[in-house]
Amino acid sequence: MKVLIILYSGGQAAQEQPKLLGTTENKLGIYDWLKGLGHDVVVTDDKEGPNSDFQKHIVDAEILVTTPFHPGYLTAEIMDKAKNLKLCVTAGVGSDHIDLNAANKHKITVAEVSGSNVVSVAEQVIMTMLVLVRNFVPAHEQIVAHKWNVAQIARDAYDLEGKVVGTIGCGRIGYRVLQRLEPFNCKELLWFDYTDLPADAAKAINATRVATLDELFARCDVITVNCPLHESTRGLINADAIKKMKKGVWLINTARGAICDRMAIVDALESGHIAGYGGDVWDVQPAPADHPWRNMRGPNGNGNAMTAHYSGTTLDAQARYAKGTEEIIDNYLNGKPQNPANVIVADGKYATHAYGQRK
Ligand code: NAD
Repeated sequence: MKVLIILYSGGQAAQEQPKLLGTTENKLGIYDWLKGLGHDVVVTDDKEGPNSDFQKHIVDAEILVTTPFHPGYLTAEIMDKAKNLKLCVTAGVGSDHIDLNAANKHKITVAEVSGSNVVSVAEQVIMTMLVLVRNFVPAHEQIVAHKWNVAQIARDAYDLEGKVVGTIGCGRIGYRVLQRLEPFNCKELLWFDYTDLPADAAKAINATRVATLDELFARCDVITVNCPLHESTRGLINADAIKKMKKGVWLINTARGAICDRMAIVDALESGHIAGYGGDVWDVQPAPADHPWRNMRGPNGNGNAMTAHYSGTTLDAQARYAKGTEEIIDNYLNGKPQNPANVIVADGKYATHAYGQRK
């Protein structure tokens, strides 16, 4: 059986740090195990274009392992050529790089390691929120540039205390963000999701569910995006949506880049309607060198807190999603049932409610 594994290349860092499991060098720690079982295992970072390793080996692979950090984009067209493909495993959380409707058509199972990096991301959300609200990035850049101008920083620096903060999506990550915000004494914590929380979970956080996204937009000083990318969230944060937000809103998106419209974000930041935009996810990854989110800035030269996609790939997270990937493959190889929480699509249908409301 052929197992195709697409990972990012870790170079020297991966040689020096064996805990960087999600790299082509350290192969999720599963290469020797799979080889020992007699499987043909291909590990590569070469994923773009018709001559890539990805497209060359997908034609006869039975299992595809990809990660959201360096996604092998499995389109319907490529899937048509993948005659043996039965299982796609996302080493991490978020399987939007796979055309899930096409996977259903081909009865391919898509599974991810649910929960493996949700704390890692929730921590990053809180950090990015503070970085933006407190205007940290230019404050640090100033020091590195041998300057000292307190007023220039303080003119756009605020406290998180007393602000209204809301999350779009209140699943594993959104909920953990709200939990972590409690001690900051925000004015209000809001959440919007079409899925309700279990009663005890709702009671355990001091947060209010809003009925519509427009209400969340209108009330929040800080908005954090924590829903998956699917048909009805692609481009959800566009120019119209931004108009409904308060002037000076801070926007944090660690969910998926394509949930936010690329140029609407740039325009709103440059005009000052958005005071800051931060996150680690891009509408294409790796982000091209000229992606406008790299250098966009607000009127005072600040408001950009973008990084490469790494919030869910801390070393702690890598250990968890590497282990989870092994378990999913082991279940498949031995005909054992998958943990239902990990299954996104199977047997031609969605197994989760998280990727859009469907009949
Ligand atoms: P989850 O499945 O536990 O929760 C997702 C929630 O979003 C669900 O409650 C669902 O009902 C809700 N939702 C879906 N569409 C919505 C919409 N249109 N409006 C409001 N809510 C909606 O998933 P999770 O573990 O919390 O992860 C969420 C997403 O975060 C992932 O799908 C992935 O895209 C992203 N993520 C990013 C990283 C990273 O490293 N940056 C890591 C992990 C996950």
